Amino acid sequence: NLPIVAIVGRPNVGKSTLFNRLAGERLAIVDDTPGTTRDRLFAESDWNGRRFHIVDTGGIDPTSGSSKSPLSISSKEYIQEIRNQAMAAVQEADAILLLVDAISGITPADLEVTELLRARQLKREGQPWPPILLVVNKADNQKFRENAVEFYQLGLGEPYPISAVHGTGTGDLLDALVATF
Ligand code: GDP
Ligand code: MG
Repeated sequence: NLPIVAIVGRPNVGKSTLFNRLAGERLAIVDDTPGTTRDRLFAESDWNGRRFHIVDTGGIDPTSGSSKSPLSISSKEYIQEIRNQAMAAVQEADAILLLVDAISGITPADLEVTELLRARQLKREGQPWPPILLVVNKADNQKFRENAVEFYQLGLGEPYPISAVHGTGTGDLLDALVATF
């Protein structure tokens, strides 16, 4: 029973890129259990010998992996999918990586996801549960890493700037992550 870490965020923030980086060579499996409304990718990962499962909720991105073209997705459907994703993550995860984008800065969809996650968190031993780590992806260079401070406004504590493409910054993030288990 390894801890489950859900990667959550609006479409295009880099969830799948981070998932693939953390999953390394390991096999990802698709949970296509009948009756579930969405596919999720699971993989095993570890950091300094601490093993955990990671979940890419990206299969439910309305703009990817869908038979519908992005242009046919209404903003109502888009918001509903973000809502479903956030709620599923809180229900099943032992920790949540909430991804945002250093290049775009805070968007209304980021605020929506943040609010939903916080509203659904329970209190365990007086602490919000599951813990949410705020991951500022696409912080590919010093300028974008500095932009990460903007995300303190989300009220989720320290933002962890990373570049999922370059693989930078993930050490500090993973140290903080495994400390929550
Ligand atoms: P998802 O929709 O959240 O799963 O996002 P993807 O992983 O599919 O990535 C969306 C786009 O962002 C792709 O074009 C990625 O190459 C790009 N991307 C992901 N991570 C980074 C990053 O660290 N830096 C930059 N510059 N682009 C990234
Ligand atoms: Mg994806």
